[in-house]
Amino acid sequence: MKNRTVLLNPGPVTLSDNVREALIRGDWCHREPEFADLTQSINRRLTEVYEKSARTHAAVLMTGSGTLAVEAMLASFAPASTRTLVLTNGVYGERMATMLQAMGRPMEVVGAGWTEPMDLRAAESLIESDPGITHIVAVHHETTTGRLNDVHALGNLCKQYDKALLLDAVSSFGAEEIHFEEWNLMALAATANKCLHGVPGLSFVIAKQDFFGQPTSECGSVYMDVNRYFHTQHGEGYSPFTLAVQPAFALDAALAELNNDGGWRARRQSYRSRASAVQSALQSAGVQTFIPVEEYSSVMTSFELPDGVEYAVLHDSLKEQGFVIYAGQGDFSKSMFRIANMGDITDDDLERLTSALTAFFA
Ligand SMILES: *Cc1c(COP(=O)(O)O)cnc(C)c1O
Repeated sequence: MKNRTVLLNPGPVTLSDNVREALIRGDWCHREPEFADLTQSINRRLTEVYEKSARTHAAVLMTGSGTLAVEAMLASFAPASTRTLVLTNGVYGERMATMLQAMGRPMEVVGAGWTEPMDLRAAESLIESDPGITHIVAVHHETTTGRLNDVHALGNLCKQYDKALLLDAVSSFGAEEIHFEEWNLMALAATANKCLHGVPGLSFVIAKQDFFGQPTSECGSVYMDVNRYFHTQHGEGYSPFTLAVQPAFALDAALAELNNDGGWRARRQSYRSRASAVQSALQSAGVQTFIPVEEYSSVMTSFELPDGVEYAVLHDSLKEQGFVIYAGQGDFSKSMFRIANMGDITDDDLERLTSALTAFFA
């Protein structure tokens, strides 16, 4: 147990033995039928994580980190002729605005401060007054702070005004509620190595089947055109480019584990109980949460670094005891630390962690 490292950063996560062992399943060629079958099985099971999406939506698997899937989703679905509205309240929303700008897609940004909720009021008045806006882009769980954005309310607006929702669900897929039909969800992007507990290397886009079409030059990219993947993966099962074979073994095992553990609801429950154990230990030690407790996702909590405590000292002390925590981003790098709840964390790990935190802040 002494050498065990527990990752409490928001992905990649501590692997279960099953997932780690799956990595050495064998040497497979990505152009042999067994790998085509595996690809199709993973895609099918990705759409079954949320029961209702299997009937309406399809998944494509890509080699790259979560950012690749997000950028591919935007490149493939954000239109070149009408405008896309981006709601931001953190690093990841702002990154999507930067991507759309880099692609030269017409867009509007409704921004909020990084500790604020998304500005739904401003978004609604823009949607109401500007018929040129056809697509809405948002982050489900804004990992900058741990805030679970109110995509429920935003999705209702998308439904009401018939706007297509494109969602960064990179750090929520597999652990938070997602309503595909109710939210008018055109597509989401996510990754293997956050709430699904796989390894880095694979990410995916799930989109409504009606919206997959022919590969198009409008996408402005060959590698990121999700239609190219849809045609081959949902045809014979092969991919247009080399998929990360071993991470696919790991994702296969990780999806089986998610299913055996009771699916996304059970995962959310276990994340929540880990979060409240850490939150109450830190609260007793006088450490405050960065935003109100009820506004966090189940996936991660951000805390205020108390006056006089340097992040590096906290980080190094915990790392020596086998725990890797995460700093704040941007302006929060000196005032915040973050503790995520994903991955194979045992009750014993959690007890040792809360004791280590209590001792550090005593
Ligand atoms: C982690 C994360 C990403 C980026 O994923 P990478 O795998 O680091 O590229 C995008 N959006 C959100 C909300 C994330 O948490």
